[in-house]
Order: sequence, then structure tokens, then C-alpha cells
Amino acid sequence: MPAYLDNAATTAMRPAAVEAMLPYLRDRFGNPSGSHAVSREAKKALEEAREVVATCLGADPSEIVFTGSGTEADNLAVFGAHAARPGVVICSAVEHHAVLHPTHALGGLLAPVLPDGTVDLDALRLLVGPEVTVVAVMLANNEVGTIQPLAEVAALVRDRAPGAVLVTDAVQAFPWVDVARLAAGAHLVAVSAHKFGGPKGVGALVVRRGTTVRPLLHGGGQERDRRSGTYNVAGIVAMAAAMQATVRDREATVARVGALRDRLADGLLAAVDGAAETGDRALKVAGNCHLTFPGVESEALLVLLDAAGVYAAAGSACASGAVEPSHVLAAMGVPRERGLGALRLSLGPETTDADVDLALATVPGAVARLREE
Ligand code: PLP
Repeated sequence: MPAYLDNAATTAMRPAAVEAMLPYLRDRFGNPSGSHAVSREAKKALEEAREVVATCLGADPSEIVFTGSGTEADNLAVFGAHAARPGVVICSAVEHHAVLHPTHALGGLLAPVLPDGTVDLDALRLLVGPEVTVVAVMLANNEVGTIQPLAEVAALVRDRAPGAVLVTDAVQAFPWVDVARLAAGAHLVAVSAHKFGGPKGVGALVVRRGTTVRPLLHGGGQERDRRSGTYNVAGIVAMAAAMQATVRDREATVARVGALRDRLADGLLAAVDGAAETGDRALKVAGNCHLTFPGVESEALLVLLDAAGVYAAAGSACASGAVEPSHVLAAMGVPRERGLGALRLSLGPETTDADVDLALATVPGAVARLREE
């Protein structure tokens, strides 16, 4: 059996989510914006899903805006908040591109991070002033798994720029941490269903009461004019089912998967000369195992692992033929030689002991082989 260790890229759908969506792909196909019985049936399902999503995110149902992806939720947050309150935008240097690129497009600033991947609060304090209207700091990083001290960021923003909107991308955090509690200080909170056992192409943005986002999409005026477009009812219903199951099982999943991750990371650190773990494990989500192997190129390692049935990812981005360490590793100050040999093994609720065994049996030999070449 191959080992799927790329759950940060996407997860298998939870059976409960598949079951929940099927009726809305078949006979319950109504458009919730209409008024007849078929529409009303879809509308009822939509509003029930909204309540579940709101509860799981610690929000009121009126604060949930359904989107077509995590990327759209992030874009709506950054562009939408900025359009409502023009000013300086700041984001952490380790944000996903869905936040980083909108920030760049608005001429924004980057807040540096410490070697453990957490935002440098002293530097952020110097950057945030009254001219700042949007600050974006993700709750958990997609590459190295670091959980940010969001409550401290929120307090800093309230202190230095009381009118500013705090955006948090909780896309990678939701499977592992209590987003309702940890993101309580953020005005805008983005999630994406396919990272926690829901379908691809559906996400949500929490827009707290009193916070305005200008819409990106204009049209039928759905979502109280915050996001036009006919509802993906099946996707939204499935996202709610996946969220509910994720929250119900989260504590047990974190304990079980965290132990697997520790066995995997410790095993590889012991077995491979020069291997190093990225960041501080105590600050990472339970499913993240990120290591660097100097003297190895990530892409070549991934090819060998793929052939052996270990499905993983790397943090390097290949732009115009030149492989460079990711912006996340660069921002954390990981030396280039290490960054080029990065490997992300991301575990999920379905990861088993056998998956970890296969990775432990495969990675050291693959690294050794590449070092011999
Ligand atoms: N934000 C983070 C932290 C992510 O990891 C991802 C997905 O990789 C996204 C945003 C984008 O979400 P989606 O794939 O739903 O567009």
C-alpha cells in the first residue's frame, strides 16, 4: 500500500461528506435563491450548513460568507478589507500566495518571522501604525506547520492601529486546532473544505459583524452582497459535514496523528546524517513533518519517493528553470543549501502506522542514493 503523506496539499473526502453531498447532486438540485419548493429545499440545506459552519468557526451564521475556495476567501479578505478601508496592508512573510500576492498587488509590506517561523512581534510592532488598515497573519503555515501567536498579534494591532482589520488564513489550521478559539481576535477568517475532508472548490470567510469587505464578485447579490454567484449547495453541505466530523474527532486525531508524526520525524532525524527539522515542533500542527537534507535536491527525492509509493511534497518553487528554496524557508533564515533539500511529509486523519513505516523504510535509502550520485 502506498503512503499518502501530502495531506497539506489536499485530503481524501470523509465518507460523511460524500454522503451529505450526493442528494444535492441528484434530485435536490434546486437553486436556493428561488422561491418554489425545490429552491426552498436547497435553501434549507444551505442555511443548516451555514449554522454548522458558524458554530465550528465560533461565528454567527450571518457572519459566514461561502466562497469558491480558500484562495477566494483570502483574496476577498485582503482586497475586500482594503477596498473598504484604503491604507497600508501588512502580511507576514510566510503567508500562502493567496494572501502574499494580493498584499504585493496592493503595495503592502512584509512582516519578518523568527527562525521558528512565528511572526517577529517586535518587528511587527514597528511596522504597524495608524496608516495600516489591514494586517494578515495566518493561523498555521502550509509548509512548515507553525502556529502563529494570533492573540498577541490581535492585541498588538488593536493597540497600534485600532481601526485595522486583522485577517487570518486558517486553511491549514482547521484540521488541527480550535479555530473558533484561536482566531477569535481576527475580523476575517478564511477556511477551505478540501483540507479537512470536504470537497475541493468550496471555502468560507468569517466576516465579523462590524467589519466591511467590498465584494470581489458582483452579480446576483448572494451572501448579502458580499459574494455573488449561484451557491454550490452540494459543496457547502459537504463542507459542513466534514467540519462537524473534524471538530468532533479533532482532539483524538491530534493525539493519534501527533504520535505518528513524532515517530516519523524522530526516526528520520536518527536515520539520515545531517537531517534537520524545520521550526519548533512544539509550535507546529500535529500533521506536519518538515525536514531538510543537505546535499539532496527535493525534486529528485520526490521522484524516488513517488516510485516507492511515498507521496510527499517539497517547499521549493521552480521558477524559470531555477529551483530556489520557498519564500517560507527563506523568510525563516533556513540556509539555501538546506532549503533546496526540503521534504514535507504531511499526515492526516487517515494516516496509519504502515504509512509511517513505509516512509521510514524509504526516505533514508533515497537520500543516500542521491548523495552517492
Ligand atoms: N491558504 C493556505 C494556507 C493553503 O494551504 C491553501 C491551499 O493550499 C490555500 C490558502 C488555498 O486554498 P484553496 O486550495 O482552497 O484555494
